Amino acid sequence: MNQLKPSLLDFTLKELTQLVKPSFRAKQIYGWLYHQYTDSYDAMKNIPKAMKEELSQKYLVNPMKIIRKEVASDGTIKYLFELQDGKTVEAVWLKMKDEIHEDGKLVQEAKYTICVSTQVGCKVGCSFCLTAKGGFTRDLSAGEIVGQVVALKRDNKHKHNRKINIVYMGMGEPLDNLENLAKAIEIFKKEEGLAISGKRQTVSTSGLSNKIDQLGAMDLGVHIAISLHAVDDELRTELIPMNKAHNIDSIIEAVKRFPIDTRKRVMFEYLVIKNKNDDLGSAKKLVKLLSGIKAKVNLIYFNPYPGTPYERPSYEDMFAFQEYLVKHGLLATIRDSKGIDISAACGQLKEKTEGEL
Ligand code: SAH
Ligand code: SF4
Repeated sequence: MNQLKPSLLDFTLKELTQLVKPSFRAKQIYGWLYHQYTDSYDAMKNIPKAMKEELSQKYLVNPMKIIRKEVASDGTIKYLFELQDGKTVEAVWLKMKDEIHEDGKLVQEAKYTICVSTQVGCKVGCSFCLTAKGGFTRDLSAGEIVGQVVALKRDNKHKHNRKINIVYMGMGEPLDNLENLAKAIEIFKKEEGLAISGKRQTVSTSGLSNKIDQLGAMDLGVHIAISLHAVDDELRTELIPMNKAHNIDSIIEAVKRFPIDTRKRVMFEYLVIKNKNDDLGSAKKLVKLLSGIKAKVNLIYFNPYPGTPYERPSYEDMFAFQEYLVKHGLLATIRDSKGIDISAACGQLKEKTEGEL
């Protein structure tokens, strides 16, 4: 299929208001889409039949079809979606905090984060990343990004007004699909829809410095996470080839220009690979590099897969690295690998070929 049919999830409320008249109909449809998670025109009971017929000629309701679901022992759920053109992408439902019960009463609601994909495949081609192995196929539309969140909330019976975080850390490089990403962010933020504020949305990037500036200029109120992974350009270029065009300095400068909430920090992700970047010399350089930035470092164990030349670092080296950063005034955490038994740890998603399904 060459021409993909757009969906109702591709539209901001404003656009939908221009599409259907009178305008209160647009709000009613938004309610069906984002409060009821409706995926068929039939269910939209208060919308006139003629209007639904007309819309259905041109637009799908939700373009995302769940074709597989894997539940890990820690409650993480990995979803595989099929798109209209048969391509597949993944999204992950992550439980961030356990429910705490006191005297049988619930005092702390579980918090959830959804990790979404922004492209089928990825152009950046990082040497450590599974997604990169399949190359790049296409960008996701705004509706295909939005549809992942709607589908996961529906599947988990998560009410529309319950808070949720979104991380753009699934398949693809979000800033390489900036236009559709920005639209999806706007749609998520809308009060009449899911009302997910910018503060609850984190864009993870491999460091396209010019696009970091563009995202900043849009003033969407989102957080950014920078996939740094190395403290010198030589190693970073080995890991992330486009570091040649967007080197470490250019990224640091772009981060310094990025508008962030003064109470918040910029997250730097550092994938720790045995005998590559797990030494204290690297930790020292990292401290120097991030001085003057309100930063938080998230250390990630490299997760090996068949055929990779890289290895997982030891627990001792990881811990020593973290300890060095903390001792020298950097906030640093070690990312716990949620859903490790289904390799759903966000960021290790890859398109499944038919044979694997
Ligand atoms: N393209 C964006 C967002 C998706 S990747 C980016 O690179 O930031 C999300 C995260 O998953 C990145 O921090 C990446 O380093 C991490 N990741 C990729 N492959 C991994 C692996 N084999 N083990 C551990 N983390 C990995
Ligand atoms: Fe693309 Fe991110 Fe994977 Fe690099 S780590 S190939 S940027 S998805």
